Amino acid sequence: MHAMVMKELGKPLEWLELPDPLPQAGEIRVKVAACGVCRTDLHVVDGELPHPQVPIIPGHEIVGRIDALGSGVKDLEIGQRVGIPWLGHTCGVCPYCKTQHENLCDRPIFTGYTRNGGFATATVVDARFAFPLGDKGSDESLAPLLCAGLIGWRSLGIAGEGKNLGLYGFGAAAHILAQVAKWQGRSVYAFTQPGDLATQDFARSLGVTWAGGSDERPPQELDAAIIFAPVGALVPLALKSVRKGGRVVCAGIHMSDIPSFPYSLLWEERQLLSVANLTRQDGLDFLSQMPDMGIVAKTTTYPLQQANEALADLRAGRFDGAAVLLP
Ligand SMILES: [Zn+2]
Ligand SMILES: [Zn+2]
Repeated sequence: MHAMVMKELGKPLEWLELPDPLPQAGEIRVKVAACGVCRTDLHVVDGELPHPQVPIIPGHEIVGRIDALGSGVKDLEIGQRVGIPWLGHTCGVCPYCKTQHENLCDRPIFTGYTRNGGFATATVVDARFAFPLGDKGSDESLAPLLCAGLIGWRSLGIAGEGKNLGLYGFGAAAHILAQVAKWQGRSVYAFTQPGDLATQDFARSLGVTWAGGSDERPPQELDAAIIFAPVGALVPLALKSVRKGGRVVCAGIHMSDIPSFPYSLLWEERQLLSVANLTRQDGLDFLSQMPDMGIVAKTTTYPLQQANEALADLRAGRFDGAAVLLP
């Protein structure tokens, strides 16, 4: 197999030929057809997350087909298309696993962070954490759903039922979630970097009610806001935009420090929450309803060997929607 490998933290990924991995008991090997590039991959290669495995093959929005089964794998078969998300393994016995909060597992393994991921032509994963994807939709269009879509979905649930929803940072996750929220009958208010008129136009093209800069107040008080951009300064801005009793949800795995802010922004029962990882149930809930949602993921594709260019373009905000690597 071939892979883009981070051999040292902070160094560009290297194109390497490696022995084909063999699935152990309970694992499957997947021939990768497409792998999305997520902001979390940037945090991994930048060394912003604690205790990464190094060397590591990043990538946790994997679509591929099973080409080898380890012993004991039932319910999956060779040739079947599956999606591999960020949550790669959980212990099954900690208090969180035992109470349907496996996203908070004490001893988790994460795809592309603490086990090898999908910036490769093949990968081996725990069969219990692979989602069967069926035949509908292209590999490339499904890949971003496996993190941007799934984490967005979990964030939307935590944001509550409110009709007026703000999305701060209009990248891969928000452009999918705006479509999901609209399908649910909500009104979406999209916040971009101040002056990023092109992304505001992109948001409007997806049917949002309003788009503007993060320094602007929306024309309507929000019931909830979800922050996807890794920018702590957005927290007080979002709190200012939500109504009494409203919620602000931080959806990213990493954020710059939150500046101090007056208590009055939080008062009146506003809530500030964060979302960590996903459960397999989140994935099943989202993927079972996804065919009805009519999501059109906007993707920019790169050959697998250009993973460094894709990461650089993501960092610089050079494309709208999601980047996807094709082996
Ligand atoms: Zn656990
Ligand atoms: Zn991700």
